Amino acid sequence: MSFTNKKIIKILEHYKTIWALNYAAGLAQWDLNTYMPPDGAPARGEAMAKLSTLCQKLFLDRKFMALIEKAGEEKKLSDAEKGVARTLKKDLRNYQKLPPEFLEEFERVTSEAHVAWRESKQSSDFSRFAPFLERIVDLNRRKADYLGYEGHPYDALINEFEEGWTTKDLDDFFSGFRSGLKEILDQVLSRPGYSPSAPLAEMPYNRAAMERVNREILDYLRVDPRRLRLDASPHPFTQGLTNRDVRITTWYAAKDFGASVSSTIHEFGHALYEAQVGDALQFTPIGGGRSLGLHESQSRFWENMVGRSRAFAEKFMKSFQGLSTEIDEYLEKEGVEGVHRYFNLVKPGLIRVEADEVTYHFHVILRFYLEKSLLEGTAKVRDLPEIWNQSMERFLGVAPKNDAEGVLQDIHWSMGAMGYFPTYSIGTFLSAMWREAMEEEFGDLDEFLLREEAVERIQKWLREKVHRHGAAYTLKDLVKRSIGKDFSTEPMLKYLRKKYLANDF
Ligand code: MG
Repeated sequence: MSFTNKKIIKILEHYKTIWALNYAAGLAQWDLNTYMPPDGAPARGEAMAKLSTLCQKLFLDRKFMALIEKAGEEKKLSDAEKGVARTLKKDLRNYQKLPPEFLEEFERVTSEAHVAWRESKQSSDFSRFAPFLERIVDLNRRKADYLGYEGHPYDALINEFEEGWTTKDLDDFFSGFRSGLKEILDQVLSRPGYSPSAPLAEMPYNRAAMERVNREILDYLRVDPRRLRLDASPHPFTQGLTNRDVRITTWYAAKDFGASVSSTIHEFGHALYEAQVGDALQFTPIGGGRSLGLHESQSRFWENMVGRSRAFAEKFMKSFQGLSTEIDEYLEKEGVEGVHRYFNLVKPGLIRVEADEVTYHFHVILRFYLEKSLLEGTAKVRDLPEIWNQSMERFLGVAPKNDAEGVLQDIHWSMGAMGYFPTYSIGTFLSAMWREAMEEEFGDLDEFLLREEAVERIQKWLREKVHRHGAAYTLKDLVKRSIGKDFSTEPMLKYLRKKYLANDF
């Protein structure tokens, strides 16, 4: 992919300053979440707000706007050039349609709401956060009105996170797999040998030893330490600055080492996408992943398809044994099966981020319907805890004891993000499409993973089919052109049936 069209080249020259601002903001964001002393927060917030205003100013430069408007009319643009024109046009529309006063109000309300949410969660008291959530719902409704939509106001919001998807697409998506997934769940739970207990989850581990294991995992995943660094943060994340400088974090708790393992692999999956975007796309608006679903399809692929495989459990068995004497003794007795079972335990729970591959999507469905109803006004903020608890009971048969493990668990609404959650399921379902397509080439993936060259060849496959294109295509277009298929839920249901119904972990 490269750029030859004169207008596009001109656009990219101007864009490079915007890129540099985003680069600086990205670095400041990474630092804020890793090493910044806490008292640096107010100044950092101030600086970031100024950087974003500056960015908007550069976008709304008369000459730049005119170039972007005309770029779409150019004939014979390459796919990368079309990608640049499309993404910039979308960004520009947002800057044009959302008034600066509205953006400022959004910023103000959400930074206050974030603090209120944290306190509210700590004391498990929804009433502290409720008035902020009411304002956030109202802001999102207004945002949808400003941005415009044809069908449902939620269309305008989802389009921010997953370009081209509509509320109808999401309705079809969720209702298309819901009963199939419920069937799988019911069958797993009623298997004669099923046990909900995971002793390894309760065992404390040594942090220094876990840090070493995480390094070994990155070695196994062929990470070049000159291009990627790993740090720790309470909420693991990935920050891609360029394809040669990607940072990830993982987290450490007192027990349940599997959570640290899967966070490391998950973020690695996001990082690999950023690291394998083509050189020619660097410093451009399509130089990294933009579709949240596509990004999540990468993190979930590595986390679930590789990290929860039997081959992985075998490979790291010895390393896990070094995490504590208790873990060592348990694994001595239970063997590789013990690790494999622990990593794949299906157990209806209350917390989304701790959910297994089968129950996960019920958490997302609940959030999607709530967001839609809030936006329509058919659900009221004050009734959320009750609706939440009843739905959890209905979907998964578990009921939160308090709001901290119910409606207050996620950070997203406090940050003003509505329409984000569905991309978690979209990405996860897409990861099974990649798996299925890979298997046409490599044969059964679980078998293939036992081979020495597996990781290298999978990375090459993903670079070719997904990563090198950066954000040139939307999710659906990329899937179509790289594996010749339309987005579908079937491969995931097939994978889950095969894995969880045929296997007795
Ligand atoms: Mg992720």
